Amino acid sequence: MKNIADFDFSNKRALIRVDFNVPLNKETLEVTDDTRIRAAVPTIKKVLEAGGSVVLMSHLGRPKNVPEEKFSLKNIISKVEENLGCKIQFAADCLGAKAFEKSSKLKAGEVLLLENLRFHLGEKKGNVEMAEKLAKHGDVYINDAFGTAHRAHASTAVIADYFPENKMFGFLIEKEIKSVDQVLNSSEKPLTAIVGGAKVSSKITIITKLLDKVDNLIIGGGMAYTFVKAKGGAIGNSLVEDDFIDTAKQIIADAKTKGVNLMIPTDTIVADEFSNEANTKEVSIDQIEEGWMGLDVAAASIDQFKKAILDSKLILWNGPMGVFEMEKFQNGTKEIALMVAEATQNGAFSLVGGGDSVAAVNKFDLATKVSHVSTGGGAMLEYLEGKTLPGIAAILK
Ligand code: AMP
Repeated sequence: MKNIADFDFSNKRALIRVDFNVPLNKETLEVTDDTRIRAAVPTIKKVLEAGGSVVLMSHLGRPKNVPEEKFSLKNIISKVEENLGCKIQFAADCLGAKAFEKSSKLKAGEVLLLENLRFHLGEKKGNVEMAEKLAKHGDVYINDAFGTAHRAHASTAVIADYFPENKMFGFLIEKEIKSVDQVLNSSEKPLTAIVGGAKVSSKITIITKLLDKVDNLIIGGGMAYTFVKAKGGAIGNSLVEDDFIDTAKQIIADAKTKGVNLMIPTDTIVADEFSNEANTKEVSIDQIEEGWMGLDVAAASIDQFKKAILDSKLILWNGPMGVFEMEKFQNGTKEIALMVAEATQNGAFSLVGGGDSVAAVNKFDLATKVSHVSTGGGAMLEYLEGKTLPGIAAILK
């Protein structure tokens, strides 16, 4: 496998699959959060500084396989230019004759952005002809789109076959892979995983996998109440998955057998409705009355988690501790974010991955205070679960 750091890009056109699936303002169609564009800059700059030219390809949103103004990558041109500090060219159809004319004439130092790949049905279908055609845009293929690495699409996986000698990861994917490997395969201890979010069902694979790795497993968020019910507690109207009570019991038993310190919250902030205007009180998590629901972890639980987190050398955090989108129920998640930041400052390696925990560290302005914030929600989870990601496998094979 080739390595981006020492590859000679001089007079080569690098076709880079980036993840420019950024949020746009619904009315003005301006980029509202350019995190993903910023994340791709090191890879793009590396090629340009090494004397190459760049063809960027990405998807944006969920168009129905035909062009739609609101999903056009034209809307992000100025943000890309702002981040790169140079003008870029644009091709209005990634497979059109004009696009190929533009990419074939690129000179060293120039950048061409192709229109949304998902305006063609072949992208998501992993169509071989589309991949073969796209491949003509470059001499070298770089995959730096971690957010779509779990998809076997034309531009993320199939295309790599057309660059048997000249395919590689970009810096972003390299960092994502390194971060997960550092958490799962390092011999440093203790390793603490914090798993929150709404449901046990969506996190069960990762929890099972983590039981073989971690010293401490902190459970929070909506899924905690299924565990509390499994232990015989009264959870009132809290979120619960009755189909997963047995699973929760099994996890509790497995944690014991495997010597994992499973930490389930002991107290909770309950509310009389799912609203920021609700009446609230702090109660023991296994004594929630009917008509009340647990929407955040409370002081004693936070204290109990604190010691484990601050003592850790490795930390993995996925999923919020409560309904952090509402101010009344954000405290548990905020406290955890602060603890992870503090542990990182004290020398721990911390990886925050999975949609909502990333939103949480951003909300509390702590993204720069943890070791790595993953850009790929679903991809990160699947990679942590030990699944083979097509976008990664295609480069490695
Ligand atoms: P997930 O996508 O599974 O990580 O779940 C994230 C969502 O879980 C967020 O939108 C939270 O508001 C929600 N959540 C966290 N704690 C609770 C809770 N106690 N009850 C209901 N929803 C929750």
